Amino acid sequence: MSFLEYAPAPESKAILNLRDSYGLFIDGEFVDGGGKSFHTISPADESPIAEIAGASDEDVDRAVAAARRAHDKVWSKMSGRDRGKYLFRIARLVQERARELAVAESLDNGKPIKESRDVDVPLVASWFFYYAGWADKLDYAGLGANPRSLGVAAQIIPWNFPLLMLAWKIAPALAAGNTVVLKPAETTPLTALIFAEILQQADLPAGVVNIITGAGSTGATLVRHPDVDKVAFTGSTGVGRDIAKAIAGTDKKVTLELGGKAANIVFDDAPIDQAVEGIVNGIFFNQGHVCCAGSRLLVQESIHDDVIDRLKQRLSTLRLGDPLDKNTDIGAINSAAQLARIRELTAVGEAEGAERWTADCAIPEKGFWFAPTIFTGVEASHRIARDEVFGPVLSVLTFRTPAEAIAKANNTPYGLSAGIWSDKGSRILAVADKLRAGVVWANTFNRFDPSSPFGGYKESGYGREGGRHGLTAYLKGASA
Ligand code: ADP
Repeated sequence: MSFLEYAPAPESKAILNLRDSYGLFIDGEFVDGGGKSFHTISPADESPIAEIAGASDEDVDRAVAAARRAHDKVWSKMSGRDRGKYLFRIARLVQERARELAVAESLDNGKPIKESRDVDVPLVASWFFYYAGWADKLDYAGLGANPRSLGVAAQIIPWNFPLLMLAWKIAPALAAGNTVVLKPAETTPLTALIFAEILQQADLPAGVVNIITGAGSTGATLVRHPDVDKVAFTGSTGVGRDIAKAIAGTDKKVTLELGGKAANIVFDDAPIDQAVEGIVNGIFFNQGHVCCAGSRLLVQESIHDDVIDRLKQRLSTLRLGDPLDKNTDIGAINSAAQLARIRELTAVGEAEGAERWTADCAIPEKGFWFAPTIFTGVEASHRIARDEVFGPVLSVLTFRTPAEAIAKANNTPYGLSAGIWSDKGSRILAVADKLRAGVVWANTFNRFDPSSPFGGYKESGYGREGGRHGLTAYLKGASA
């Protein structure tokens, strides 16, 4: 081993206290599911982790009924101050069990432990702390005095940030006095089920949060349930469309957080090394399984070659492998299906004439893996410039003037996020103002904060999560 190589430094799994099988969490208890059970596996080596119950239509009914009872009899009647106490308690328990949650998340999702440990789980705790603070201050949410909860929220989350998306959904809903039926993604249910144990530990009243596991069809049944008042969904644009159609004509409220194809714009006056770190963080964080990923690099023509050289050098130092190893930068792709999609789209990229470069790293024999890849010479009409790959794949385009950068950045059906790298504050503000994206980062990328609203334009969805805006998505004015 050369002195520059790292010895393995795996995080121990001994902290986990997993069950062999998990039921559905309904009305405060784990119960058997009436549907077909399935196994959740580790994408790093395809080994089974636990058997997971599948919810039948009757189970969905039971979960919604439990949430309705808890809403009408307990949670919406409780003072905001008391609801806040429960949320603070949950936040503190997440912190106490942080290491266990991080290990479980990396095991089930495939993301590097340094990300689940240093990004996902701390953000989960901060989301609960933040909304705990709102629970007794709803009068100041901007809806007048005494705003009311909506009722039962159906929440459907994806597999890329399983526990963090759960926190984004559950924390504001509970602060505002709603109760919840949440369905995690079928490939990553583990941390949601450990979270259910945390709710028991926190003595949260039965039925306030119900967690039901199952396939997409379980989600489809849940959003269509007549006693659901609010649907909150994060996932693909296709499913988002299906949900929008399913609830059209009903009085259900909805927020949809869908796909993205963000432009990360690097001007010639940007600090290049810092920008290269930001590009890497923008698209290779979480294997690119990030809806707001900076998957389109727009680089000013005069610095293109320099940026690409430095980027390739930097990517050659990334370590791909065991998600539980503390030195791992790039973990596993979450599922065989996602790996197949990434392969398909990158093959199209080559066929369309873009130039492909892939970091030279050893790929483990078992599991789902994809090495960091860059396409240069990409044109705006190429599919790798238009479709969301949702993997560690960067498409590079060039521009000459700020106006061209803005036009290219906005030339997408999506509008979730964007990044700008420049030394000049005035240029950053002028460009940011013209970008059709819900979040614009300047000289940084993929930064999240519970007080900051997040959401999209166009096919990236509607509604905002986070901050006061995220809270009002779960409230109605006293007279409504
Ligand atoms: P991806 O394509 O990234 O896997 P999906 O949008 O398919 O993401 O999945 C996100 C979540 O939506 C998952 O929990 C999944 O089970 C759920 N889901 C899939 N299809 C539907 C549907 N028709 N209605 C409601 N939820 C669905």
